[in-house]
Amino acid sequence: MPPTNNLFRPFFAHNSRLLHRTFPTPRRAEAMTTQVAFAAAAVGIGAYVYMRSGATAAPGTSATGSGSDTKPFSGFGFRTLKLHSSELVNHNTKKLRFELPDPNQSSGLTLSSALLTVSFPPSNGRWTPVVRPYTPTNPLDEPGFVELMVKLYPDGKQSGYLHSLKPGDTITCLRIPEYVWQPNKHEHVALIAGGAGITPMYQLIQGILANPEDKTRITLVWGVNGDRDIFLKKELAELQSKYPGRFRAEYVVSQPEAGLTYRKGYVDRKVLEELGLGANDEKNKNIKVMVCGPPAMEKALKGGKGPFGSKTGVLHELGYKPDQIYSF
Ligand SMILES: Cc1cc2nc3c(=O)[nH]c(=O)nc-3n(C[C@H](O)[C@H](O)[C@H](O)COP(=O)(O)OP(=O)(O)OC[C@H]3O[C@@H](n4cnc5c(N)ncnc54)[C@H](O)[C@@H]3O)c2cc1C
Repeated sequence: MPPTNNLFRPFFAHNSRLLHRTFPTPRRAEAMTTQVAFAAAAVGIGAYVYMRSGATAAPGTSATGSGSDTKPFSGFGFRTLKLHSSELVNHNTKKLRFELPDPNQSSGLTLSSALLTVSFPPSNGRWTPVVRPYTPTNPLDEPGFVELMVKLYPDGKQSGYLHSLKPGDTITCLRIPEYVWQPNKHEHVALIAGGAGITPMYQLIQGILANPEDKTRITLVWGVNGDRDIFLKKELAELQSKYPGRFRAEYVVSQPEAGLTYRKGYVDRKVLEELGLGANDEKNKNIKVMVCGPPAMEKALKGGKGPFGSKTGVLHELGYKPDQIYSF
């Protein structure tokens, strides 16, 4: 019998079939061992959530949350969501739309947030949960749904599992507050994404532009390997034409197909200078830069400590101070 702790009830409901199949008699020892495994998982998950949210949490600041307690992700705790539809949006990325319990209520997630997904894919053995964050990409105030865009990695445990889900299947997840967006705190925000790192940027772009009070200018710079890696192109183009002077999207493709017109190369100093994103430019006095991409890209941009404690990295060279840089 699994524990009845509220925190874990949906989790066990979701995984009960798996647990019963994989843990035969003696039942008591089984239940205890299971409890230990889940307790260990919960400690790990709690530590993860604490570390991520502790960096930025500023209670009560929300650009889109209405404060209603009845929304599924207004509070802390695991929720089980049913998959409504799954659609391939490029060669390796799926858009997964999950139903919220009440079709008339939005998720309760605030700008910006991610969901920590927990699964026990059969390929990962019995005991170890797979825990990975994903960033909802639909407007946070959309009633009835939460949407994830998930890139499939070769041998990816969670991305493979999520890509295998069929409508009606469920996932278990927990909200993680990310950067707490405050309208008009910055005049300009530069969002630098690599690959699937577009998702937190897209959530922010939609949330900022949907708020008529928020006048922040947004420049998105999205680096991808090839043209086929790009998705959301139509949506970003529509936002750019709807909000001229407020939002622009720039694509940087390292291996472009012949004949296409994207900027070629990597998101480096030259590209950011050409796009007018130096921190010392007069028009960028109150700029914030946000970065989300693969480790090599983040390292090149944010650098580290050089010889004798000096700072390195493209953003440092462009005049950004550490408190102007946020990394998802
Ligand atoms: C805050 C946050 C939000 C995120 N939001 C999204 C999102 O919305 N959509 C999305 O698709 N992903 C997102 N991610 C990444 C996601 O959490 C997983 O890391 C990713 O899906 C890989 O997990 P996996 O279990 O499939 O791969 P793993 O089983 O962990 O790894 C499989 C293989 O893929 C490689 N790999 C894993 N991640 C990367 C990477 N980022 N770059 C290059 N190689 C990699 C590993 O080195 C390994 O070889 C987010 C990450 C963070 C921190």
